[in-house]
Amino acid sequence: MAKILMKTPLVEMDGDEMTRVIWAWIKEILIEPYIDLKTEYYDLGLKHRDETDDQVTVESALATKKYGVAVKCATITPNAERVREYNLKQMWKSPNGTIRAILDGTVFRAPILVKGIEPFVKTWKKPIVIARHAYGDIYKNTEMQVDRPGKAELVFTDRDGNVTRQVIHDFNGPGVLMGMHNTEASIKSFAHACFRYALDQKMDLWFATKDTISKKYDHRFKDIFQELYDSTYRRQFEEAGITYFYTLIDDAVARVVRSEGGFIWACKNYDGDVMSDMVATAFGSLAMMTSVLVSPEGYYEYEAAHGTVQRHFYKHLKGEETSTNSVATLFAWTGALRKRGELDGLKDLIDFADKLEQATKMTIEEGVMTGDLAALSSLPRIRKVNTRDFLLEIKTRLDKLLG
Ligand code: NAP
Ligand code: MG
Repeated sequence: MAKILMKTPLVEMDGDEMTRVIWAWIKEILIEPYIDLKTEYYDLGLKHRDETDDQVTVESALATKKYGVAVKCATITPNAERVREYNLKQMWKSPNGTIRAILDGTVFRAPILVKGIEPFVKTWKKPIVIARHAYGDIYKNTEMQVDRPGKAELVFTDRDGNVTRQVIHDFNGPGVLMGMHNTEASIKSFAHACFRYALDQKMDLWFATKDTISKKYDHRFKDIFQELYDSTYRRQFEEAGITYFYTLIDDAVARVVRSEGGFIWACKNYDGDVMSDMVATAFGSLAMMTSVLVSPEGYYEYEAAHGTVQRHFYKHLKGEETSTNSVATLFAWTGALRKRGELDGLKDLIDFADKLEQATKMTIEEGVMTGDLAALSSLPRIRKVNTRDFLLEIKTRLDKLLG
């Protein structure tokens, strides 16, 4: 069979530990035999980041701006232990943080649903995608603990020296206080990314804040979303048959639990942090969660939501058998290939991505799965397989689907 041809290369960001092993096997077993794969390769493995003083991370992000679509392997974010383990020149920053800062993106996290792994919430039938605003609020706060009575004030001095002042609280004793901010530019980027992604996925978009209590701060988020929706997206949403829905955050939480899923839930930074872990766990497994960074200009970077699965890697190094779940990493590849196919008008590349996802789901739904899923599955007959055999099982089914 002739291999599928590509036009524009994908930006390939390799990574660390067990996911790096899986990365190579996915390419070898499930991609390269079928596609004449074109990538521009960046090695974001920790050793190479250290050798290049982390320039490789910056270059990979700039390449994503040039080509538009990237696929990323999980990478180590170094801490003191890792600095010793890899004898690093310094404690390099999180690659995801660096890439996000350059692309100015919003992260969308979507669960992969399969029969036999039922969400803990019985009503959920379709994915709930969480879009988390990744800038500001308490993540860039300034806080203070005060040990005596006194007046706390909010003071704003403009560039001409004009001062606006407001009392926060007149303390009669010890207490705590906090200042935080967000910017119109960042909130607008977030809103654009959410509206675009909803159109891209043809999914309804929900957004929620605490605007009844926070009449300026949260209310501004609500207004920016509404203004952009009315000025730019309403017609496209109507044509696509999807809706934009705003409600109070408490009401949103209650509705989400009663819903059957099938929508994107845009969250402010803190809500997104908390709710994405809740939603991921309720859907079953972090190993079945994909993540895509979408920039306001329309650049896409796909990855798995989990880390490098260090514990399994050390078993693998000792020559012991592992049963690591490759689904989220594989879906990062299919997501990136499909997007590349859409942008370049390559129907056979899109079809291939669809079939590879289908073959992966079939494998699990026929009872063949890795250990993490075997522990969760409600199927009557399960065969637990090792990391590599799972990919080979997918290949068998993919070959059948491709005829
Ligand atoms: P992790 O790699 O997500 O793994 C934590 C545990 O979750 C694993 O030990 C394993 O549990 C289970 N697990 C996660 N993914 C799995 C998979 N695909 N298949 C089977 N089980 C899976 O998190 P971590 O151990 O806290 O972090 C390891 C490294 O990853 C760190 O250096 C961190 O900096 C990095 N990290 C990177 C990213 C990223 O690049 N996006 C995200 C998070 C963390 P059992 O051990 O019980 O089997
Ligand atoms: Mg969290």
